[in-house]
Amino acid sequence: MRIAIGGIATECCTFSPILSTENDFVVQEGEEVLDYERYPFLQDTPATILPTFRARALPGGRVSHITYEAFKSNFLKRLEAALPLDGLYLDMHGAMNVEGIDDAEGDWYEAARKVVGDNCLISASYDLHGNLSERIMANLDMLTAYRTAPHVDTLETRTKAFTMLLKCLNEGIRPEKVWIPVPVLLPGERTSTEYEPTASIYAALKDIDPLPGIMDASILVGYVWADEARSTASIVLTGTDKAVMEREAKKLALNYWKTRDDFGFSVPHGSIDEALDWAEAQPDDGLFISDSGDNPTAGGVGDRVDFLKTLLERKVERAVLGGIADAPATQACYEAGIGSSLRLSLGGTLDGSTLPLQVPAKVVFLADVANETERIAVVQVEGVTIVMSHKRRPFHEEADFLALGIKPQDYKMIIVKVGYLVPDLKRIAKGIYLALSPGVVDQAIERLLYKRVVRPVYPLDKNFFWYPEVKA
Ligand SMILES: [Zn+2]
Repeated sequence: MRIAIGGIATECCTFSPILSTENDFVVQEGEEVLDYERYPFLQDTPATILPTFRARALPGGRVSHITYEAFKSNFLKRLEAALPLDGLYLDMHGAMNVEGIDDAEGDWYEAARKVVGDNCLISASYDLHGNLSERIMANLDMLTAYRTAPHVDTLETRTKAFTMLLKCLNEGIRPEKVWIPVPVLLPGERTSTEYEPTASIYAALKDIDPLPGIMDASILVGYVWADEARSTASIVLTGTDKAVMEREAKKLALNYWKTRDDFGFSVPHGSIDEALDWAEAQPDDGLFISDSGDNPTAGGVGDRVDFLKTLLERKVERAVLGGIADAPATQACYEAGIGSSLRLSLGGTLDGSTLPLQVPAKVVFLADVANETERIAVVQVEGVTIVMSHKRRPFHEEADFLALGIKPQDYKMIIVKVGYLVPDLKRIAKGIYLALSPGVVDQAIERLLYKRVVRPVYPLDKNFFWYPEVKA
C-alpha cells in the first residue's frame, strides 16, 4: 500500500495588507516531511509512506501568488514522482487565501487530484478554523478537524485523518461525505470549546462517533477574517451510511444555528479603556489583557500601538506589553546597547491605519541570538515595559517572558497580542480580560468591511430564516 504525505497550512486574514512570502514559511521537502514527532503514527504503519512537500506559516495576510505557485509545483512534482498511489494524506489548516485565488485549498486539492487520479483516496486534517467549499468537498474523500479551541488535540486529529485513510484502504471503502455549511461566522474567541455553549456543541460529537456507518463527525467554526464566499461554519461527516450521516449532520447544524445568539466571549471584555479600568479595580498583580485586534496568531499585523498609546496617556505603571513587531526599532536598540536611552519611532506602520509612536525609551534587555531575525529587545518607556521583536511573532507562553527576564507575576498587568489565552498563560493569570482593540483581526467583526462573504450570514445579518440543507 502506497500513501503519500504532504500539505500546506496557514490562515490568511484578507483584511491585512501584508503578503506572506516564502520567508514566512517553514518548508519541508522529501524526507524532511517524515517528522516522527509530528507524525508518530507513521513509524509503525504497514503502508509505504512517500513524503512530498509541506509548508506551514504563522497566520498572516494573503500568500503571494508567486510563493504559492512555487510551492504547488514543488508539491505536484514530488507527488507525481510518488505514483502510483493508493492514498494521500494532507496535513492542512484550511483558511489559506492566495493573491488572486480564493479557496486556495480547493485549488491545491484539485491539482493534487489530477495527479493522483480518481482511485486514490485523499484524506485531510483540519484546524476547526478552516473554511470549506464545493471544490474542496469534490476533491477530498474524507476530512477531520480539531475538536478543541485552544487546540490541544492536534496530534489526535492528524492521527485520525491518517488511520481513517488506512482503514478505508484496508477495507476497500470509498467513504461518503455529508457537508452542511451553516451561515454563522464567528471569531474563535466567541467559540472556545472551553466554554459554553461551544463545549456542549462539540461534546455531542462523542455520541456520534460510535454510530454504525459513521467514521468522523466534524464541526468547523470557520475562519472569520477571510472575506471570501466560502467563509462560514460547517458540519462535515465522513462514513458509509449516508442516511445516518445526513440525519446527524442536520441535527448538529440545526443545533449550531439555534445557539447562534449564545456564543459570547465568556471572559470580561470591552474597549482598551474599559480593560484598564478593570485592571485598576483588581487587587491582584499578574493580570492578563488580550490586545485581540492585533493578535498575530489570528493574522494580525503585530505592530499596532493603540494599547501603548492609551497606557502612556493614562500614565499606567508596572505594565508589560508583549510585543510589538518592529525590525528598525529593534535594531536601533541593539546598536544602542543595554542601559542606553534613545528616542524610538515605535510600531504603527504595517496596517496603514495607525501612526508610529515617538517615545523616549531605555534599553533593558537584548536577547542573545545568532540570527538577526530572532532579535528581541525589551525597553522601558515610562511605566511600561515593552517587548519588541524583529519579526512578527506571538509572546504567548510564560517561558517567552521568563527568557527576557520578565516574571509576569511581578507586574500589575501583562498585555499580550493574543485572542483567548493559551492554557499556559491562563494557568498563571490572576485575572483575564479580552480587550476588543482595533486591528485587521477585530473581534467586533461588524466593524470590518466585508464585501464577498455570502449574505445573509450571522452576525452581520440577524433577521433571516435558515434550515439545514445538505450541500455535498
Ligand atoms: Zn485555529
